[in-house]
Amino acid sequence: MNTVFLPAPGAAVPVVGTSAQFPVHRIYCVGRNYLEHAKEMGQSGREPPFFFMKPADAVLVAEPGCVTPLPYPSLTKNLHHEVELVVAIGTGGKNIAVDQAEKHIFGYAVGLDMTRRDLQNDMKAQGRPWCIGKGFDHSAPIGPITPKAAAGDINHAAISLQVNDAMRQHSTVEQLIWNIAETICQLSAAWELQPGDLIYTGTPAGVGAVVPGDTLKGSISGLTGIELKVV
Ligand code: MN
Repeated sequence: MNTVFLPAPGAAVPVVGTSAQFPVHRIYCVGRNYLEHAKEMGQSGREPPFFFMKPADAVLVAEPGCVTPLPYPSLTKNLHHEVELVVAIGTGGKNIAVDQAEKHIFGYAVGLDMTRRDLQNDMKAQGRPWCIGKGFDHSAPIGPITPKAAAGDINHAAISLQVNDAMRQHSTVEQLIWNIAETICQLSAAWELQPGDLIYTGTPAGVGAVVPGDTLKGSISGLTGIELKVV
């Protein structure tokens, strides 16, 4: 293709057990998908899932065994952590039935849905889009993707986040209001999923602020953990 400038290399995430990378197509995120977090954000009950997106190049790969620098973003005074199970789609589709959803999954990773909470809340109050609060550069840290066959019983995995070695978020994936298959079903009714899509499935209770110098450790049992330092 003849292009007027060189296109940027696409975002990609390492895959556990191979040198091949997972090329990222889109990043979808689920809002308020754990009951205790929905409560802390002012909601109650099982409302229908809702979605937002981040640009694919918001991915920040956290290499195993390293402390990855996480740049503190501009404009905010309230950068929040949200640890999340990330589902990596390997086979696309639309209107995917709940009992067919598992076939579309390539694997899973630990991710962070970093949030400029003050800007998100400003936009919410004005009825405006959340993009500035959610879709900024480096807002989607992620660890290597574990292929689903190697990930164990992900629906019952423990999920946690520590900041400076203090536990901030701790739950299990079975506490999801909309589980992985239901999320894929609902999401694929709104968008045709493609290989390379990542789904950040929502965060448990305990979200809070981090500042430069803080170290974040995200863990999900069966997956490779991540460690980042806010700089
Ligand atoms: Mn989130």
